[in-house]
Amino acid sequence: MQPQPEGPRVPPLRRIRSRRVAAFASVTALTLAVSTSAGTGHLTQGRTSAGSGPVTVARSTALGPCMINGGPAVQMSEGVPTPGGYSRSTGTVRALTLMVDFADAPGRGSALDRFHEFFPQTQQWFRTSSYGRLDYRPETPIPTWLRMPKPFREYGIERGAPFDPGYRKLVQDIVAATDADIDFRSYDFLNVLITPNAGPSALDTVLSVTFAGNTEAPVADGVPVGNASFVYSRQDDGSGSYHRTGYRVLPHENGHVFGLPDLYTQEGGGAVGHWDIMSEDWGANNDLLAWHKWKLGWLDASQVHCAARPGTTQYTLSPLSRAGGVKLIFVPVDARTGYAVELRTRGGNDEAVCRPGVLIYRVEADVDTGQGPVTVYDARQDSGGCTRSPNVHAELSDAALTPGEDFRDAGKRIRITVAAVDVRGNYRVLVTRT
Ligand SMILES: [Zn+2]
Repeated sequence: MQPQPEGPRVPPLRRIRSRRVAAFASVTALTLAVSTSAGTGHLTQGRTSAGSGPVTVARSTALGPCMINGGPAVQMSEGVPTPGGYSRSTGTVRALTLMVDFADAPGRGSALDRFHEFFPQTQQWFRTSSYGRLDYRPETPIPTWLRMPKPFREYGIERGAPFDPGYRKLVQDIVAATDADIDFRSYDFLNVLITPNAGPSALDTVLSVTFAGNTEAPVADGVPVGNASFVYSRQDDGSGSYHRTGYRVLPHENGHVFGLPDLYTQEGGGAVGHWDIMSEDWGANNDLLAWHKWKLGWLDASQVHCAARPGTTQYTLSPLSRAGGVKLIFVPVDARTGYAVELRTRGGNDEAVCRPGVLIYRVEADVDTGQGPVTVYDARQDSGGCTRSPNVHAELSDAALTPGEDFRDAGKRIRITVAAVDVRGNYRVLVTRT
């Protein structure tokens, strides 16, 4: 388990739980402190709730060399395709969404107000990011606060808490309280929106966590509640932007139920910055990397190019924020790693892009969640970056390459050159392998 910072003035930390507790989870917490059990267990794959199933990733013979794989030792990998056990990430996906409170932390105001801190924004966020391929339906069959039988403190939930025993008890109590009214087979995953007055302020310790691919989760209506996101105290930095951006913790947590790993590390967001919501979910809106969009099944085979052959090949990239066109060039280095190339501009979910251009990053399928599976190449190192947005990792904000610039990996004999921009805003990129 690795504690990981991401955040505002007081960076909260998130951590990852291993499969040893039959679950994967990430928790945001305050200080760089305490890594409790250093589990390295393995996330078992298997059934989750009804309707879920393996992600259908676009593939073709030409894409084969780019389907990197980390092997079974990695609990949550950037490899393509994503293994089974997680929620489906295309088509209509039903998120059972419950608002939960406790006798020692009673919900204030209406439970539906809590729901509306996250919706419809989360739904819209996924619609935009997926180019309409993920039809996310949050459903609230119980529109009131669901009171748990025990006080909050008795569940022993704190940062880094494992699934057992506290979360298991909480999920069991949720199932017991709702089973007469809810058929869990109808849903793909569970969102638990905890009353924000339970537990510490997110500015001190962010508890929000996801347990994904958990085949040993409590069973309801014959299916394990194996993919569940829990959201706690508001990620409100006091800047007045909460109503616009505070929901973003939920798309991050739901990214885990779809099988995406955490991209921040113990050192914070310095590996990927604000280029993916799995790296930073505070502050201005941001999108997912094109690599994640391919992994989630949101790109056609024709929108991904695998630059595996020797020689120089020219590609035209279309902005990631716009539907249609080529979104990803991947330059495989070996069976586990490679370089991804994509075009990032301001638009869609990307509202903090201050220097549009071609983003290049290394993807390592054999590096686990929270350990830095993705590393963005910074075209302007030690520049301080170009953004002034709060809660955005500044240094990497000007990482993208502009026409005339190139990236080289001399050892691997790879050169990626940004050649030109056309009138429609597409970028021409040359990949040379010798
Ligand atoms: Zn996370």
